[in-house]
Amino acid sequence: MKIDILTLFPGMFVSPFADSIIKRAREKGLVEINTINIRDYALDRHQQVDDYPYGGGQGMVMKPDVVCRAIDSVTRPESRVLYMSPQGKTLNQVRVQQLAQQAHLVILCGHYEGIDARIGGRIDEEVSIGDYILTGGELGAMVVVDAVVRLLPGVLGDEQSAAEESFAEGWLEYPHYTRPAVFEEQPVPEVLLSGHHENIRRWRKKQSILMTLLKRPDMLLNREFDGEERCLLEEILFDWGGKT
Ligand code: SAM
Repeated sequence: MKIDILTLFPGMFVSPFADSIIKRAREKGLVEINTINIRDYALDRHQQVDDYPYGGGQGMVMKPDVVCRAIDSVTRPESRVLYMSPQGKTLNQVRVQQLAQQAHLVILCGHYEGIDARIGGRIDEEVSIGDYILTGGELGAMVVVDAVVRLLPGVLGDEQSAAEESFAEGWLEYPHYTRPAVFEEQPVPEVLLSGHHENIRRWRKKQSILMTLLKRPDMLLNREFDGEERCLLEEILFDWGGKT
């Protein structure tokens, strides 16, 4: 996959993509990530990228001619152009999985009051990372890149790990434990020490359902349960009933 990030602040991306999983994915050639400085596409003497808003009001607006030149410099027929925007659809794991199928992502970061609305024709979708306002789209772009790149084949090394994570199948993930076996008088659940793979799988599935019920009951609305899930849910409700 190739990712081109259009930004006025390319320096912000140096460190976040130079460590950990993203660094390794780049080194292995599984993803190519470039930052493009939008300012390089301002043709006037002062390289002006923003201007006052028509109609008055606070702040500055990024100029459409400059931004469109920057977009056009990287887009190809297979490109998907994302504009980071609080007005976009909020990113979730399903959308991340879909974006991970793309060959080329172009991620446009706004700044100041945003970008002149007339760039609309160049944008495939607006992407928000939540209902709050950031100073610029850069942090949002980092979120998109991180979430997408870790799903690319070969990046985690163990595809199963991504398949089991929270949201991957509409459930939160089960809790994890590592050594020591007892920490502050809290022992690791016995089943995890048993070596019985089927019992461990079933326990983890039950914990996933329990975590989702406790922390994100909204995720259960309108969802279908398979036979095992229904059975585990009944066990949880029975356990609760037995304790009250
Ligand atoms: N005036 C805009 C509004 O009220 O909708 C907000 C502009 S914001 C200060 C500047 C830039 O930050 C936006 O153009 C966008 O690229 C980015 N941004 C801000 N909040 C965001 C969010 N929640 N998700 C994604 N991008 C965001």
